[in-house]
Amino acid sequence: MTEGRDRTKDIWGARTPYDPGTPWPARADAHLAPGVAEDDVERWVPSASLLHSNGDAMDIAVRDGRIVGVRGRTEDRVNRGRLGPKDLYGWQANGSPDRLTRPLVRRDGHLEECDWDTAMDQVAGRSRELLEQRGPGAIGFYTTGQLFLEEYYTLAVLARAGIGTNHLDGNTRLCTATAAEALKESFGCDGQPGSYEDIDHADVIALFGHNMAETQTVLWTRVLDRLAGARPPRLVCVDPRYTLVAQQAEVHLAPRPGTNVALLDALLHEIIRRDLIDQEYIETHTVGFDDLAAAVAPCTPRWAAGICDVTPAAIERAAELLGTAERLTSTVLQGVYQSHQATAAAVQVNNLHLIRGMLGRPGCGLLQMNGQPSAQNTRECGADGDLPGFRNWQNDDHVADLARVWNVRPQDIPHHAPPTHAMQIFRYAEQGSIRMLWITGTNPAVSLPELSRIRSILAQERLFVVVQDLFLTETAQLADVVLPAATWGEKTGVLTNADRTVHLSEKAVEPPGEARADLDIFLDYAARMDFRDKDGGPLISWHDPESAFAAWQRCSAGRPCDYTGLSHDRLRRADSGIQWPCTEEAPDGTARLYTDGITFADPDTCESYGKDLVTGASTEVVEYRSLNPDGKAVLRAAEYLPPHEDTSPEYPVQLITGRTVHHFHTRTKTGRAPELNAAAPDVWAEMSPTEAAHQGLSDGDLVQVGTPRGAVRARLRTTAMRDGVVFVPFHYGYWDTPEGHRPPEGSAGRAANEGTITDWDPVSKQPLFKTCAARVTLVARRATPPVRERTDADADAGSRS
Ligand code: SF4
Repeated sequence: MTEGRDRTKDIWGARTPYDPGTPWPARADAHLAPGVAEDDVERWVPSASLLHSNGDAMDIAVRDGRIVGVRGRTEDRVNRGRLGPKDLYGWQANGSPDRLTRPLVRRDGHLEECDWDTAMDQVAGRSRELLEQRGPGAIGFYTTGQLFLEEYYTLAVLARAGIGTNHLDGNTRLCTATAAEALKESFGCDGQPGSYEDIDHADVIALFGHNMAETQTVLWTRVLDRLAGARPPRLVCVDPRYTLVAQQAEVHLAPRPGTNVALLDALLHEIIRRDLIDQEYIETHTVGFDDLAAAVAPCTPRWAAGICDVTPAAIERAAELLGTAERLTSTVLQGVYQSHQATAAAVQVNNLHLIRGMLGRPGCGLLQMNGQPSAQNTRECGADGDLPGFRNWQNDDHVADLARVWNVRPQDIPHHAPPTHAMQIFRYAEQGSIRMLWITGTNPAVSLPELSRIRSILAQERLFVVVQDLFLTETAQLADVVLPAATWGEKTGVLTNADRTVHLSEKAVEPPGEARADLDIFLDYAARMDFRDKDGGPLISWHDPESAFAAWQRCSAGRPCDYTGLSHDRLRRADSGIQWPCTEEAPDGTARLYTDGITFADPDTCESYGKDLVTGASTEVVEYRSLNPDGKAVLRAAEYLPPHEDTSPEYPVQLITGRTVHHFHTRTKTGRAPELNAAAPDVWAEMSPTEAAHQGLSDGDLVQVGTPRGAVRARLRTTAMRDGVVFVPFHYGYWDTPEGHRPPEGSAGRAANEGTITDWDPVSKQPLFKTCAARVTLVARRATPPVRERTDADADAGSRS
């Protein structure tokens, strides 16, 4: 138990060393409210984390109808009882006194409380008006990576077949769109090939732009425990900051932001040049090797060194480790996904595993990570730029099959173009073709790039904005209707984590006031809109989480993410989470995909025919059939291209934004957990001591980080990272400032996205948060540098996410 320890500082807890190939030992972590002992807990209710994508299984402690703590589940395959700081303290946000308890509608410019009928009548009434006057394309939905599977699926059905709009996406677009796209490019299908258990077997672990120590603390605990055991794995770290991961790594490559493709091309060049490839695997399971080899032939370590500003020797050393590993596990996250050429770079990591035959065996894991707890569910259910069940919008048979499942006509499901991505949804709203935007569980007024633009879009008179959330977020303050939602612990549903593990999260307590489960809100809307199938029956016939799950099972049947062997009851009876696909043939789930060749890339099965890695243009079926008739993995080469916005004399440094260990998202929940808030209460900026001196700045100065689009004011922290870069954590907005949803009039703000650029990866459409030009100027000198309490990891130094 971790009772009594301050886990905001002791981030990973005590070591439980273990040896390769042996199970990760259990460790029971728990935290209860002050004054509550274990004997005082009346019920323990099973759940999983809602504050990151690791999927840590936990039980919620309930007493007197309130949540009073959590404990990790030692039998679970994901965390074996461990919890991170956000899990241990974050639940307190549920009981925060400023939870929304009644719907709000805007009257005379002000949000006023009302009853549910009034609010929902406004939402349904406006929807009907717009459908009549402008058609389905006038309505857009922007959801999150934090609801339950049953809720996404219901939203996808009502948006796509009920309204008939193609404008449905999630904030997962900012977070894991590149993970999904990279997997589709290489394997024809989304879905993590590997398993977290690969950490237990790997002899080399490579982390590409993934500060696992802060973003997935429990998975990093697993790595630390391997490092403390016999025959520890060797680590390769790619990150411009000297993170905790970098400190443990045998090789740390700190490339210039925006140059990941050059670095990866050089690594592939070395591995191919030294013939460290698995020829038999390549021939049996892939297409495109000759093109890849030709493309990387000129990409020598010396060539890459000139672009990435990393020594050729370091690249060679990394290639040696990656090329000679017997069991290589790689992870990828935002340092790749939110950077220039995001998908092209992520695909090169897939290529690395494919040419080395490092898939489908224990320790040969490839984890294109997620950031949010149910990001995987948005993708499976079609609430994030895909059709449900990983169906291919370009494949008429897939659309017809979905139409059969929903009992609608194929033409009732929009598929004339790819589902609209979030950045385009906001552009349509800006231009006026989208007139209603329904935002669930996310806060674009802080999390999207170039915030003054986003605020002005949301504030437009002609745009009807509906926000469904727990608190009066910055976005909710700009809404026309605000719907109070229930959250984790207050409703039942399923969460699937980054390694395909499905957990059931059960209702433990009642939501506050009149707040309602997101599923109930969607069902209420569907009933008011009276959506019908082609025979006149109700389009949405389910009525609770269990029946919604059953409907999803029918939709997933026979598809790669097949849930037919799962049910709420089966998950209730299981000791531990279960990985999809879970079917009659694989009743205990599936640890690894592609154990027996590449199974989902067949032209008739695949979720996508792929895209051009430079332009993002979709490949047509004829082209894909001729490239990959037998449905093998596709090795796609990518040429390095310079970032769109580079430094200049006026903006001499590069701004990268990212996450800190104590917060999640825009602090909507973590900012309301006292321990987490106290650990990281305000925004800061980080630079290397050399770069700070070069700019005439020193530790503790109040500085302004400005870009051509906006500015942030923050205290400077000097820390080990590459020169020429400034880092700002992106969690901070304005809800806890006098202004409420914006910076003070005419002044710099505290949200990192005031200055980030409206630009996105052409393939995944993920916005770029890590490669814009900036300048850092002095606002006020601090005479004495601040004394700050450091965690055992100096974890409050933030992360690259
Ligand atoms: S903090 Fe980073 S990884 Fe997590 S949800 Fe946000 S963007 Fe995704």
